[in-house]
Amino acid sequence: MNFQSLKMIKVKKFTFNPFSENTFIISNKSCKAVIIDPGCYYKGEQKELDDYILKNKLEIQCVLHTHSHLDHMFGTAHIVEKYDVKLWIHREDKITYNSFEKVCELYGIPIYKSSIQTPSFFEIQKPFEVDDMIFQILFVPGHSPGHVAFYNKENNFVINGDCLFENSIGRTDLPGGNHAQLISSIKDKLLKLPDDTLVYTGHGNNTTIGAEKRGNPFLQ
Ligand SMILES: [Zn+2]
Ligand SMILES: [Zn+2]
Repeated sequence: MNFQSLKMIKVKKFTFNPFSENTFIISNKSCKAVIIDPGCYYKGEQKELDDYILKNKLEIQCVLHTHSHLDHMFGTAHIVEKYDVKLWIHREDKITYNSFEKVCELYGIPIYKSSIQTPSFFEIQKPFEVDDMIFQILFVPGHSPGHVAFYNKENNFVINGDCLFENSIGRTDLPGGNHAQLISSIKDKLLKLPDDTLVYTGHGNNTTIGAEKRGNPFLQ
């Protein structure tokens, strides 16, 4: 079961779309919830997400992107419209966000919905609060120019998108990618977190900071 109960916060992980992207719904005891990287592409995937929200009586407060690659935002328009919420991204990733339709076209992926509202931008100096859930925004560019990770200190986890993976790191051959910058982001921001921090990745299995420090071949 892809479900973790961490103190008062629930982290639910879904794996969606042909890129096997991980989408997260994080909710608290009062059923307030945030969706991170809604990659639900097919109608069935959107329904799976909606059903979970309905079944758990969640009140969606906002959508956050770690970064705006297509696989992390196929479902954003659906969520934003259905739940009438704001989308937040990092300012530096606006260029990635704005190229969504063009990139879908390049990949030959038809999109159901393309009308997305103008996003709001994080102020990374301030923690991002969703009801009583507090996320520190770590600016970790390299995989994309405005990539961020969401660190919840109280519950000891980070949602890190396509930055650090189990035994791997994000690719840097896409527009705006930079390998040296990615390595610095990981070493200076992510590896500074406590070793037992649970890392939720944008693709594949969860890991921990300690495990990647010890065994990740790209960080030795
Ligand atoms: Zn990506
Ligand atoms: Zn991805």
